[in-house]
Amino acid sequence: MSINFETIWANFKRISVTTVQSVRNHWHKVLLIGTALFLLLQTGLLAWNTVHRNQPVAGLHLAHQRVSGIEGQNLLHKINDLIIQTESKPLLLVVGSNQEHITPRQLGARYSTSLIEKRVLSAGRHGSIFRRLIDQDAALLGLRNVSLSFDTVDRAMSLAYLNNLNLKISKPATEARFDFQNGKVGIVSEQAGQELNVAQVEALLQKLGQQNNQTSRVDVPLSPTKATITADDLKPLLPEAEKIINQPIVLQAAGKQVSVSSAELSQLVAPVKQADPKQPTQTKVSIGFNDSKLSTIIDKLAAQVSVDPQPKIVSGKTVISQGTAGSHVDGTHAKVEVVSELLKRGQVNSPPPAAPLPLPVVTTPKPASPPPAAPGAAAKPPPPAPEPQPATPTVIPIEVGEVAPPVVSQYAETNPGGRYPALAGDKKMIYLTFDDGPGAYTEQILDILKKYNVHAVFFLVGRNMTVYPNTVKRIKAEGHTIGNHSYTHVDLSKLSDAGITDELAHTQKTIKDIAGIQADLFRPPYGSINAKVYDIMTKQQLSLMMWSIDPRDWSKPGVPEITKRVVDSLKPGGNVLFHVLHQQTPDALPAIIEAIRAHGYTLN
Ligand SMILES: [Zn+2]
Repeated sequence: MSINFETIWANFKRISVTTVQSVRNHWHKVLLIGTALFLLLQTGLLAWNTVHRNQPVAGLHLAHQRVSGIEGQNLLHKINDLIIQTESKPLLLVVGSNQEHITPRQLGARYSTSLIEKRVLSAGRHGSIFRRLIDQDAALLGLRNVSLSFDTVDRAMSLAYLNNLNLKISKPATEARFDFQNGKVGIVSEQAGQELNVAQVEALLQKLGQQNNQTSRVDVPLSPTKATITADDLKPLLPEAEKIINQPIVLQAAGKQVSVSSAELSQLVAPVKQADPKQPTQTKVSIGFNDSKLSTIIDKLAAQVSVDPQPKIVSGKTVISQGTAGSHVDGTHAKVEVVSELLKRGQVNSPPPAAPLPLPVVTTPKPASPPPAAPGAAAKPPPPAPEPQPATPTVIPIEVGEVAPPVVSQYAETNPGGRYPALAGDKKMIYLTFDDGPGAYTEQILDILKKYNVHAVFFLVGRNMTVYPNTVKRIKAEGHTIGNHSYTHVDLSKLSDAGITDELAHTQKTIKDIAGIQADLFRPPYGSINAKVYDIMTKQQLSLMMWSIDPRDWSKPGVPEITKRVVDSLKPGGNVLFHVLHQQTPDALPAIIEAIRAHGYTLN
């Protein structure tokens, strides 16, 4: 038997070709079927996701939780669960050396359910048909996530938290200031403060939503804040400050005294930075005074001096009580006295080092004589020279105002020229008047009157106007009336004719110079008026305007008491006497205005 290789080869070739042929046919089929299935799937996916618009695209994850195929309420539940988880994920807030454990929720993070729902429902439904198919396929394979991000957070709440946190941790810069130690005026340098950089923290919070680890640590950056007034600003002012601070002062009124040491004076001096009047783009530091410290010192003196007046009581024709005058320290005037005295000191040219400063307005008592030298003391060497000279206090006399008992007389005019009637039409009128300004509290009072749209009469003191000229202009500009209250707040009934004339005329000129108007109302200081004053007032074309409701706010009886006194005395045409001397008056004013209106009265 012979083997025919030829035949075998031929057969083999035939079989192989057939096999390859059939295999190729098979793959064609598979490919065909596969493509058909794929297209069917894509069409189906597209159709399903198009029809079920109220459900997430098939296969979508909500931050690792599969959410596809869940309807309505279920989806909301899942979103809420995730919000709670995210909002309560522990967070370590590191602020400088402080560490606070906090959650995004405490930070004010509030994710919006509806926004997230909208985002879940629109995921995979945007862009061209190919884009949508790719997104939807990726979702099907578990590759598409919708996670909570910071842009679905209520920003106002987190800002509120951050601002609050800033209040807690920020340290304001300390301004450079003068001090007095070891008998010497020195400069205490400024210190930078620090505050939260809110914008930077917000940027850090943005990243939070993207982190998945258990505890996130957030390092909150602090930014330095600069002092406004630096030691360099104060150096040129040192000679002036030395002259003001070196010598203590004593405030004196009605035999009582309050002394202010050099150390206290150094705290009273509060440098201020303002626009330079010569070059408005530049700022300039100059000597100023701390108003509230000044008030505290003057109030200490006032407390020892103030006495309330007692009214005269008459029953029929019998005088039951004659009444007595009271007295008080006029706070605004006292401040003007002290500030102008101190400023004057600073402007005096350098005296010879050892000599006391020549201060014109004040009496400088002789320093207490040193104790008599012990026998043989002359032999001792003199004490070392550079010891600072013990300073002699300057005494600043503070006027004590006499407060007249309430009087009813020919001088009790409250409706000059018929301008302040009891009734306007059928409206019962009340008028507000403010005496002794302008002063430190006048601006606050003007703010309140503006807010309530009330117009008042301000009886201004001439010399105070020179200290607060801008306040005078504001009184005029805001439609209030300016009246004359003398130039130095003196009891005019005790002056000569020339003295009275000068007090009134000087004030008229000051009003004219600053506000550009001719005042025609006059109220005498302490209500003290006699025929002579009345006569001179009339000659200067001034009309008298007294008051009919007196809450005695100058005696600082407290806000509720001031309010009660006004409200208890309301009557048509009532003319209320306020003073601009203490914080209690602006503090009481809003409630008084509201009460007057609530009682059916109309304010001017
Ligand atoms: Zn007065």
